[in-house]
Amino acid sequence: MPSTKKYDFLIVGAGLYGAVFAHEAKKNGKSCLVVDKREHIGGNTFCKKIEDINVHAYGAHIFHTNDKKIWDYVNDFVPFNRYTNSPVANHKGSLYNLPFNMNTFYQLWGVKTPAEAKAIIEEQSKKYQKNNPQNLEEQALSLVGEDIYYKLIKGYTEKQWGRKATELPSFIIKRLPLRYTFDNNYFNDSYQGIPIGGYNELSGGLLEGIDVQLGVDYFKDKIALDSMASKTVFTGKIDEYYNYEFGKLEYRGLRFDHEILDVENYQGNAVINYTEAEIPYTRILEHKHFEFGKQKKTVITKEYPLEASTELEPYYPINDDKNNNRYLLYKNKASNDLVIFGGRLAEYKYYDMHQVIGAALTKTKKLFDN
Ligand code: FAD
Ligand code: UDP
Repeated sequence: MPSTKKYDFLIVGAGLYGAVFAHEAKKNGKSCLVVDKREHIGGNTFCKKIEDINVHAYGAHIFHTNDKKIWDYVNDFVPFNRYTNSPVANHKGSLYNLPFNMNTFYQLWGVKTPAEAKAIIEEQSKKYQKNNPQNLEEQALSLVGEDIYYKLIKGYTEKQWGRKATELPSFIIKRLPLRYTFDNNYFNDSYQGIPIGGYNELSGGLLEGIDVQLGVDYFKDKIALDSMASKTVFTGKIDEYYNYEFGKLEYRGLRFDHEILDVENYQGNAVINYTEAEIPYTRILEHKHFEFGKQKKTVITKEYPLEASTELEPYYPINDDKNNNRYLLYKNKASNDLVIFGGRLAEYKYYDMHQVIGAALTKTKKLFDN
């Protein structure tokens, strides 16, 4: 019997997971309604135009991937520029290139060859070598040794996560490359850039021709919204979906303080990290540099880490054992549900954009190819 529902899918969340899902569903002849409680699409990739500059409203977003299919997919909606992320770290007034590379080693120790740098790192890390580092501190000390850990990692990490580095999972630090070449590219991936015109071009392209309702909190009208579609796709917090019945999943929150400055070029780089514990923000962004902007003024953002509470936006899932085990209880419950859960909040995973897009493409391929 044909369904009497208005839509095939109700999609909760207009972030990248929801937008890719909706786009693929439409391509396969399905109708979708996308709702988001925010007043804009794009989720955390949303850019706000200020002084003709695309301001990354929820923190620096740099697209990078090794997967040519995902790169081609996003470039079909909007061309990307050649931006290469090369943040600089400021530690007590001295500047160091990131990620950890020959420029950093020269700035730290005056060494000029990979052999000299390797010798220092080996000397400083040998007493921390372990087969299976148990936490971020052990992992970092065994990889890069004491100077880098104490100047560039410990302070930043502990304020970012609000926890001791000994209480954090080691995988977080493995995101950063360590290389013995003079190469300040923050990522090892083959493809990298920023959408020309900002990320709204990408989310807008994905959602073109799809019904979207903004300012709609799913939980305020769940029964009515669910009844409009044959199936629901949920990209919000999975613990909230189940009314926190196994307890709350913890997140790190952020406060973004945006400032317009009457100067053309404030810091000469898109991202400068402040790695000592005493400075309360983790980084300052200068948005025009993501797009090589020539505007007369500039917009900067200081990112202040916060403990997320249910009232604040959740940004970073804290994937330690306690939270991961709690998430498994939710995941198990969700596996018996007809709802599809996807994205950073619903899968409680420290996903980058390309991974969220990949996850949504895999899911939709599985659904629609059969
Ligand atoms: P989101 O973008 O969070 O979208 C979920 C949407 O669901 C939100 O818009 C939310 O309002 C909506 N929603 C939730 N609950 C409800 C409800 N009850 N009713 C209605 N709507 C609801 N990735 C990179 O690749 N490179 C980077 O440089 C990078 N930098 C980042 C920096 C920061 C500070 C953060 C926080 C993330 C960064 N990311 C980066 C990760 C990237 O933002 C995510 O991978 C991606 O945006 C996640 O997409 P999503 O659709 O899963 O979630
Ligand atoms: N990190 C650090 N010092 C830095 C930058 C990063 O110690 O100057 C650590 C920190 O623990 C951070 C992790 O590396 O959470 C991952 O950094 P990344 O820049 O990938 O974080 P994101 O952009 O996701 O906030």
